[in-house]
Amino acid sequence: MTVLFISDLHLDAGHPETIRRFTKFMQHEARSARDLYVLGDLFEAWIGDDDDDPRLEPIVAALREVTRSGVRCAVMHGNRDFLIGERFCAATGCRLLGDYERIEINGEPVLLTHGDLLCTDDTRYQALRGQLRSPAWQREFLAKTVADRRKIATDLRQMSANEIAAKSEYIMDVNQATVERTMREFDVRLLLHGHTHRPATHHFTLDSRPAQRIVLGAWYEQESFVRWDERGATLTPSAVTPLP
Ligand code: MN
Repeated sequence: MTVLFISDLHLDAGHPETIRRFTKFMQHEARSARDLYVLGDLFEAWIGDDDDDPRLEPIVAALREVTRSGVRCAVMHGNRDFLIGERFCAATGCRLLGDYERIEINGEPVLLTHGDLLCTDDTRYQALRGQLRSPAWQREFLAKTVADRRKIATDLRQMSANEIAAKSEYIMDVNQATVERTMREFDVRLLLHGHTHRPATHHFTLDSRPAQRIVLGAWYEQESFVRWDERGATLTPSAVTPLP
């Protein structure tokens, strides 16, 4: 039994090579899995399920073919594609997850999340997140034309790039106390997320017991995934475990 996890593909209509990397993964690696979890930021930006850009169609088709072949696919919102909705799910056969998903693999509980909620040192981002996730903002945004929404999404990405350039690396990583509080809350010893683009397996002690946090990498340069089978979880490409 194989369970695959990916995140932060940041697929963009203007970057066909990343889309090809994804469709190739879906045609090969993904076919051998029982479950495929996409832990957010599948897209660089998602302005609504009614986006009619034909360059996005191969992505939808690749997911649809995989779910039709019997692989169970679940998608979580990232900070870039939190407007993925029911129509996208119906077109692809994917199931939409909440911000946290607790699953069990071979009897071991595992907590899945995108990762942005763990970056609590970045208070400016958390404030913006609250605003963008409010039903009122989303209603208003989705009522605009596709062209207007594309323009706003481009402005938001530019704003985000400027913010990131001005922030320290430390602020944009997860907060360890938040990680531990969240793991206690969900009663897990293993947490799997993306978002920070710092692929690694972190080992630490949580309440006197060993715990692990596996971080998926981004897909800008190459694919990054975790395969969980009878031998356990493997991060590919493997990343050097950083010192605590
Ligand atoms: Mn993200």
